[in-house]
Amino acid sequence: MAASNKKIKVAICGSGIAGLSLLFGLLKHPHLEPILYEVGLEIAGDEGVGVGLAPNALRALKLIDPELREAVTRAGAGQGPNAGTEVVQVGDLKGDVGYLFQRSKFIEQLFKLVPQETCRTNKKLSRVEDNSSGVGGDGVHSTVRKYILQDDPSCAPIFSQQYFYVALVPMEEAKKKLPKECFDVYCQYAWMGSGRGMLMHNPCNNGETLQLLAAFTTDEPWDPEKWTSEKSHDEMRKDLSSWGKTGEGFTELYEVQSTLLVRSIWEHPHAPTYNSSHACIIGDAAHAMQPWQAGGAGQAIEDSMILQTLLGAIKDVPEIPSALDTYTKMQKERTQYVQTMSGGMGEILMGKGDADPDLEELRKIVPRRWDEMWYFDLDKHQEEALKVMKASIKST
Ligand SMILES: Cc1cc2nc3c(=O)[nH]c(=O)nc-3n(C[C@H](O)[C@H](O)[C@H](O)COP(=O)(O)OP(=O)(O)OC[C@H]3O[C@@H](n4cnc5c(N)ncnc54)[C@H](O)[C@@H]3O)c2cc1C
Repeated sequence: MAASNKKIKVAICGSGIAGLSLLFGLLKHPHLEPILYEVGLEIAGDEGVGVGLAPNALRALKLIDPELREAVTRAGAGQGPNAGTEVVQVGDLKGDVGYLFQRSKFIEQLFKLVPQETCRTNKKLSRVEDNSSGVGGDGVHSTVRKYILQDDPSCAPIFSQQYFYVALVPMEEAKKKLPKECFDVYCQYAWMGSGRGMLMHNPCNNGETLQLLAAFTTDEPWDPEKWTSEKSHDEMRKDLSSWGKTGEGFTELYEVQSTLLVRSIWEHPHAPTYNSSHACIIGDAAHAMQPWQAGGAGQAIEDSMILQTLLGAIKDVPEIPSALDTYTKMQKERTQYVQTMSGGMGEILMGKGDADPDLEELRKIVPRRWDEMWYFDLDKHQEEALKVMKASIKST
């Protein structure tokens, strides 16, 4: 309970992985009263997209609460007969290995863990008043980000000049259409392009489905009001025409969709801060990134872990600014590093920019790109955050 004996109210905007994991974390602290507001009519993730959680994300979930880590298993990850069996090493896998599953199933599991009355749907945050407090987990086009960053040039997301086709198809169907070498090892495959695109496929939901993602660059601008754009089957065939048998398989598997929607990829320039005195941003609202190192959701969970640790340790409202300043201090550098790495990985996978076409060199450098992201010492980071906040409170 806060020193004044009144609970501290915390408004969270957005019911993505960031908002829901934070809500769960804050509910553990009796002096806090969090309420989550979501613009959607219901709490549901995007059904068509898979999400991978790596060892750092799993550790952050566990540090919030072991029950949250279990939600990953209940979302359909790591339950099959070979669960936990190492197939191939990328980097030096230690501890809890990563899993890939449907994002909507994970959101569903997170939602089950919180009391329904703490989530209010069909509630849109339209603007933030001066001195109002709350947390923006409201995604890439965040309203809270606009309030915190105001005229800063990093405020608005930018189109990465990339779009992608995606489908989740039954594994049996995928095996009929794609070449055999796409299934030699049970893992995510990324087929590098030579300047304009890349193909990726990964088993989801315990191998019941395969996610097929084909990404391409474009010189055209994208309407910022729209996430998606419709492509004709002819345009899709053209995009995939230089990809041999694998491209033909992707084409056949996408062709069953009568309406082909491609999605745009947006990212934020690095923000100078993630907070004002009483508001802050987490997850994609703070650091939307290209998805090529599969790190956005993991960073969102790490943000929630640190923020719930700090808010859980304050005694009263006047300590909130110290908690939020500490949150930025702890999370900005790390999340922006992952943002930069993810963009760089996109360049490598698409075969452009500084990418070195020397395959031997790529074999050496690519696996190392995940080291800092996956094996960062989150336990120490959490302890450090508390120390920094205590020093800041003492000095004010
Ligand atoms: C193709 C693709 C693959 C990816 N793969 C991975 C992966 O393998 N691993 C990984 O870690 N990450 C991955 N990511 C990134 C990851 O999905 C995101 O970083 C993560 O889901 C962001 O979660 P969030 O909660 O911050 O935002 P969101 O999921 O965008 O949630 C924001 C929520 O806020 C709500 N909202 C928005 N505005 C308002 C408002 N004004 N009022 C009220 N509510 C509002 C929205 O409706 C939404 O529910 C991938 C991304 C893409 C595009």
